Amino acid sequence: MANIAFIGLGNMGGPMAINLVKSGHEVCVFDLSEAAVAQVTEHGANTKDNAQDCVKGAQFIVSMLPAGKHVESVYLTAETGLINHIEQGSVVIDSSTIDAATSQKVAKALAEQKIGFVDAPVSGGVGGAIAGTLSFMVGGSKIEFEQVEPILNTMGKNIFHAGEHGAGQIAKVCNNMLLSVLMVGTSEALQLGLANGLDPKVLSNIMSKSSGSNWTLDVYNPCPDVMDNVPSSNSYQGGFMVDLMAKDLGLAMDTAVSSQSSTPMGALARSLYAMHAGSGNGNKDFSSIFNLFNK
Ligand code: NAD
Repeated sequence: MANIAFIGLGNMGGPMAINLVKSGHEVCVFDLSEAAVAQVTEHGANTKDNAQDCVKGAQFIVSMLPAGKHVESVYLTAETGLINHIEQGSVVIDSSTIDAATSQKVAKALAEQKIGFVDAPVSGGVGGAIAGTLSFMVGGSKIEFEQVEPILNTMGKNIFHAGEHGAGQIAKVCNNMLLSVLMVGTSEALQLGLANGLDPKVLSNIMSKSSGSNWTLDVYNPCPDVMDNVPSSNSYQGGFMVDLMAKDLGLAMDTAVSSQSSTPMGALARSLYAMHAGSGNGNKDFSSIFNLFNK
């Protein structure tokens, strides 16, 4: 069993840290929110007054923070940055979804202090974090991947080595860009059927057994009351927020610009999600884009 520090205990980080505790690791947790810390310490994690004290003696440091600026400041800020407090030979696992350039910058700075790093963004949402069934897309050396794999196995079910530092983040933005395009397409197809008198349950059943079948239609249907236990049947509460999808699509577009890639469907999906977020839907699940096509 390992000594692990966990920084960032929000919707995703909280349950991920609890799963590490449940599998017997010694876990010290820290978050700016005391309430978030309390939710994990009641499951047996330790805490300290600050992140710097938490990482002392930790072999692995996991972070689950909102965006690149948080990750850069937590690790690299002069004096208070964890780079000055993590012990040599330890490995940082950053599971936040951020830009690949920041991951690579943090990896390089840590390597100079003989500290390992992997970017390991996740797919599977809050449900996957609670159930311990997340997919991890890991960027780092083969040795770093082998070091972190057993730790990631306690929080996830599919652990992929995507390539070198930053590759995990690239895999994540590709996946989420595709997911957004599928969600928009599924939504407009269902609304077209509804507007022409079809029962959305019947139409969903037909398309999911036909060539239109896809995850957003079959598992995460955006039309209310077609399926139980999905956000669309719960007023679009829970799940994956529109604001986070809009953030990921911004990352996808930055990645496309820097590699001069053509991503017209992703660009349209980014605009639609930005518009949807701007209309006050930022806190709803991303399947609520369905309502944009209401007649
Ligand atoms: P969240 O906002 O619920 O949690 C972020 C946590 O980080 C908060 O508790 C906040 O207090 C803490 N934090 C911020 N700055 C900090 C600092 N300097 N020190 C310590 N703690 C700090 O976000 P989330 O939903 O848990 O998402 C985290 C990351 O995971 C994001 O990058 C997101 O894109 C990604 N992600 C989220 C989902 C999802 O379904 N929510 C799915 C996949 C990936």
